[in-house]
Amino acid sequence: MALHESSSSFFSPWPDRLRHSAIVLLAAGLALSVLVALDELSLIRAFAVFLCIAAAALVPWRLHDVAASREDTRSVNPVENGAVAAVVAGMPDPAVLLDRAGRVIHLNAAAAQLAPALRKNELAQFALRSPEIITALREAIATTEPRRATYLDHVPVDRWMELVITPVPVPTLFGGTDKCMLMTFHDLTPLRRVEEMRADFVANASHELRTPLAALSGFIDTLQGPARDDPRARERFLGIMHTQATRMARLIDDLLSLSRVELSAHVRPDTCVDLIPIIRQVADGLEPLARERQVVIEIQLPETPVMIAGDREELLRLFENLIENALKYGASGGRVIVSLKEAASGEGAPEIRVLVRDFGPGIAPEHLPRLTERFYRVDVGDSRLQGGTGLGLSLVKHILNRHRGRLLIESVPKNGATFTACFPQVKTPAAA
Ligand code: ADP
Repeated sequence: MALHESSSSFFSPWPDRLRHSAIVLLAAGLALSVLVALDELSLIRAFAVFLCIAAAALVPWRLHDVAASREDTRSVNPVENGAVAAVVAGMPDPAVLLDRAGRVIHLNAAAAQLAPALRKNELAQFALRSPEIITALREAIATTEPRRATYLDHVPVDRWMELVITPVPVPTLFGGTDKCMLMTFHDLTPLRRVEEMRADFVANASHELRTPLAALSGFIDTLQGPARDDPRARERFLGIMHTQATRMARLIDDLLSLSRVELSAHVRPDTCVDLIPIIRQVADGLEPLARERQVVIEIQLPETPVMIAGDREELLRLFENLIENALKYGASGGRVIVSLKEAASGEGAPEIRVLVRDFGPGIAPEHLPRLTERFYRVDVGDSRLQGGTGLGLSLVKHILNRHRGRLLIESVPKNGATFTACFPQVKTPAAA
């Protein structure tokens, strides 16, 4: 052990090739000693030959080593080998390995795609021209601490990335150590989007609640003041107050339903339910609204049960939203058809599709992709007039997500709209 330690401490600062030279010298010394012993060579000549061999073997190495350690060792050969390139290439996030001057040694495909200006053997500072990044790079070069910076990309879409520059000590060819910088990018765009959505949601929800609340307190003031002794005005204002209070209650109800469904989004319902009685129950419940709007609801459903894995209460809510929307926004068509069919999804999996078709004004194509966003409405005034909250289709989408289904929306302006709820068909003992 002691021997090992002393030999390793003797040789360890020497790189491999220097060690090899020492072995050659030992062999030469041995050979010369044999020649001297055999009287083939005088001692002085043997010594001179040995000195020449020693000089030839050691001096150039030592000179090279000293020169290399003195100069700015940009050629950090160990990091230029294939294994390091493979590690950088295999990193899932965009990653770039830089030398101590900031010159790119390796970069992976994700980094090349993210910042096409980054090129091998060129300075990263020129490619990523943000002052924040340049400062972080300079600090990382000067210290041993990782530095962070923000990288913003606007093409083709806005992206927020956190850039981490980690100084990495690496051995040089000649036994010293040098420094490289590993620069990795972490995509914060999804987090930012969620944060933005959360802020938008809070702003929208409070705005939606404040509007009826302002109306209520305004009418209370009027009833306590100028309309105190006017029974007709009182009657009318109380009616409006009732509508506003109902709207607030509905909004809170929808918000709670939405958060409940979101909380359980990862748990797929495991009870088997028959869709037919659920749809019929909703249609029957909406009959008074249909009569009021002078719309006929046509039910085209099979006589036999259609079983899916579902949550009964959520499915009632889903169909209530779709059919009620058709009655409210498509009333001018005078007809709403609710039908069911079997079809195949995009991936070819069997699906149960429930279609709610109306013959109203339809929806312009530019609104279709945004209809399931919270609080998104084609016409806010119309929605409010109809008692809408702007949360109905968002709730429908979340319920369908939880059921591992999807919502299809097709519409031809002036020719109505069809909302289709698709559920995966499951083969269960009950369904069989
Ligand atoms: P709301 O509570 O306003 O009804 P929804 O999320 O249910 O909110 O619907 C969002 C918007 O989509 C509605 O405000 C309306 O503009 C539009 N919409 C929904 N269903 C229909 C339909 N059948 N025909 C025309 N527009 C519709």
